[in-house]
Amino acid sequence: MSGNLYGNPVALVTGGSRGIGAAIAERLAKDGFDLLLSYRSDSAAAASVQERCEMIRPGIRVVTVSADLAEESGCQAVFEVLKSEFGRVDVLVNNAGKTRDGLMMRMSLEQFDDVIRTNLTGAFLLTKLCLPLMSKQRKGRIINMSSIAGIYGNAGQANYSASKGGLISMTKSIGKEMGSRGITANLVAPGFIETDMTAGLSEEIKAGALERIPVGRFGRPEDVAAAVSFLSSDGASYITGQVIEVAGGLLL
Ligand code: NAP
Repeated sequence: MSGNLYGNPVALVTGGSRGIGAAIAERLAKDGFDLLLSYRSDSAAAASVQERCEMIRPGIRVVTVSADLAEESGCQAVFEVLKSEFGRVDVLVNNAGKTRDGLMMRMSLEQFDDVIRTNLTGAFLLTKLCLPLMSKQRKGRIINMSSIAGIYGNAGQANYSASKGGLISMTKSIGKEMGSRGITANLVAPGFIETDMTAGLSEEIKAGALERIPVGRFGRPEDVAAAVSFLSSDGASYITGQVIEVAGGLLL
């Protein structure tokens, strides 16, 4: 994508401190983006991603910001840093997310709401803040991180699946509303990716998942980052409202 006043296009990646978000940051750094990386709590991890990105592509600007995206004030704080540090945004990657699994019959309203607020409402709020900027630029890419659980559902993840399924229909709606302004909106739906999020699962669950992955291995954060890189590229300008599964063929 063509750049800003300083030459580089700008990407905002939420949840950029570890896992898939960190791999996306590194990949977009390689692609020549200036980066704003948001995270919630782990400053040391965010600083080390920032350092790695600056090493991968000397000359890009990388800024980090801590905020709770489940709160409207947190989304606003990230947007203020984006405006003051970069003044534009070419790519927004709503990647921050969490799980709080449990069977539906035992799931509390608080447990349901917490996951919806982080995964879906946070993406809604941040996208809403960024759209006027993108609209003025007549150019922008929204890339939302869904999950195969959001497409097929998953036992023990009614809250998470609802948040990720909601993201799919919200993103398709954004694509329809904003296409004429040069803004596309797409999703990546990872399967089983090796990060902190999946590290705590039992060996039994992991073995069961592996059996259902035709490609024969778990995904790596870099596999997801490659799809985000493509959706951020000029070559993807005619793609909107789509979900790219990065799951090695895994079916739930
Ligand atoms: P992860 O390793 O647990 O990292 C989550 C990231 O989100 C961290 O940077 C975390 O920041 C941030 N975050 C969480 N809650 C937040 C909040 N309330 N406000 C701001 N930031 C918050 O997760 P991951 O595995 O990389 O997953 C990244 C995305 O991919 C998520 O949306 C997830 O649902 C999706 N996904 C993952 C898989 C998988 O197999 N791993 C599969 C499908 C979809 P701190 O570390 O600072 O708290």
